[in-house]
Order: sequence, then structure tokens, then C-alpha cells
Amino acid sequence: MPAMIADNVRSVRQRIAACCEKCGRTTDGVQLVSVTKTACVEEMREAIAAGVRAFGENRVLDAAAKHRLLADNAEWHLIGHLQTNKVRDAVGIFSLIHSVDSIKLAQAIDREASKIGKRQDVLIQVSTSGEESKFGLASDESIEFIHKIASFSNINIKGLMTIAPAVSDPETVRPYFRALRELLVKVNAVLSTKYGILSMGMTDDFEVAIEEGSNIVRIGRAIFSDKK
Ligand SMILES: *Cc1c(COP(=O)(O)O)cnc(C)c1O
Repeated sequence: MPAMIADNVRSVRQRIAACCEKCGRTTDGVQLVSVTKTACVEEMREAIAAGVRAFGENRVLDAAAKHRLLADNAEWHLIGHLQTNKVRDAVGIFSLIHSVDSIKLAQAIDREASKIGKRQDVLIQVSTSGEESKFGLASDESIEFIHKIASFSNINIKGLMTIAPAVSDPETVRPYFRALRELLVKVNAVLSTKYGILSMGMTDDFEVAIEEGSNIVRIGRAIFSDKK
């Protein structure tokens, strides 16, 4: 049992490498963000020992508690919805915020980042599936949105993020990943930008996401759950 996390990390890395090889990509072009929303600090230490260098958390308060104990051992990604009243803490902790989807939130991040002299790296969350229950912008409002916040001096846009609906066959969500890649191409063409990050793919669908161009996969259960 103690070796479970190390074994899981190794197996996830092998699957990423095999998938990259299959689609002619290099493994170091895909960053593994280990999603620790269900993991305790001890398990996170095991992940660090197994070579994990990036943690993804959904909630700022959980992340803050873990960050106090493990801060320097990893980089921290916020992957869940961010409320404006948590922005100050978030900006202090996370190297990348994946979930920017409103002007109000972007303004708050810009303001808090400016107070601590930081340029906060962010991704714009887009719901390419159009699923109502999910956070994220609609694809067709995202270019105007990005254009508006691109001028904020303490926000640094790096790319796009999406969460695909949970389905049993990952092929079902391939069109949503492809749509995010195509949207990034379009954003860069229309706004003359060079945003490069596509954060997409979780335990059940990361291989399909990598085939569609993902360069950050966010993986929780395949690492921290014994019943995936
Ligand atoms: C929980 C979560 C993940 C990880 O999901 P798994 O299926 O456990 O790999 C990835 N991204 C987001 C936004 C999440 O909330």
C-alpha cells in the first residue's frame, strides 16, 4: 500500500510518454499537474518523493493550508472556480490560475497581483461543450473577453483551459478538446498573440486530450485513488 502513489505516478508518466510517442510529440511538452483536492499532506509528500513537481487544487483555503507545509517543494495551480473574496490568498499561492472566466475576477486578480508586485499567470476557462452547469466562457465570447483583459498590466494570459463533461467513453469528448485547440489558434490569429497553453485532460480522458494538443494534464484519481 505505501508504494501506491509512487507506482501510480510512474504508471501515469508511462501512459503520457506512450501517448506522446504515438502522436509524435515529446514527453516534456506535456506537464503533469497532480490534482490533490482529495489528498492529504502525507500523500502529497509521497507524490513529491515520486517526482511530482506541480499540484492542482480546487479550493483556495485547502491549498493555503497545504501550501504552508509544502510551499517550496512544488508549484501550485488553481484549477477550481475562484471567488473574488479569495483572490488575495490565491495570488499569494498559485503560479498559474486556470479558471479565469469573468471580468470582475480578472480585475480582482489584477488588483491583488499589483499590490504584491506580481504578474499573475492565468488561463481563460472556456466551456467548449457548452454545458450549462460548468463554469467557463462560451467559445464565442472568449475572444472579446481576452481582448478586454489582455491589457491588464498585472495579468499574464498564457492560454486556455477546459473541463470536459464526465462520460464513459473518452472519444465522446474529443470534439471539445479539439475545439479548445482550434479556439487557441483563432485567438492568436485574431489578437496577434502567441498564447501556448492548453490545459485539458483528466484521469478518464487525458490521452485523448494529449492527442488533441494538451500541454497540461490535470490528474487526480489515477494518482491518489486506489479505485480508479
Ligand atoms: C478534480 C479535477 C481534476 C482531476 O480529476 P480526476 O478525474 O481525479 O483526474 C482535474 N481538473 C479539475 C478542474 C478538477 O476539478
